[in-house]
Amino acid sequence: MRKIKYIVVHCTAGNQQQKAKDVVYFHTGPKSKGCYGWSAPGYHYIIEADGTVVNTWPEEKISNGVKGHNSECINICWIGGYGSVDNRTTAQKHALINLVKTLKAKYPNAEVRGHRDFSVDKNGNGIIDPWERIKDCPCFDAITEYKHI
Ligand SMILES: [Zn+2]
Repeated sequence: MRKIKYIVVHCTAGNQQQKAKDVVYFHTGPKSKGCYGWSAPGYHYIIEADGTVVNTWPEEKISNGVKGHNSECINICWIGGYGSVDNRTTAQKHALINLVKTLKAKYPNAEVRGHRDFSVDKNGNGIIDPWERIKDCPCFDAITEYKHI
């Protein structure tokens, strides 16, 4: 197994009724069909609106979630997120906690972060200010929310 340094939380920032397979298809399907055409999907786990957790890629393989860090990440993603609005369902919140707990048990040294926490602290004040974020993904503060896990 590769060394896992980060468990990274994402959102799709799209239609919450999408299914995990739709997201995987969008990442790995042919460019001619408007997909990204990647050789690996963006996430290892995707959490659907009803809380179903789908394992979309083997953990030992690298997914395409965080540019420049993927070799040391497990990427997990909840379906939804409207602009910067956190519209996680209760089922998704529970499923996320359970998944983070399971992964932390497996990779105890891994740090739980949101995608946006990989942004650069441009003014050096020690925090990623909203204006410094690459994007709002995953629409909530994952570091704070999961720090007790
Ligand atoms: Zn993301």
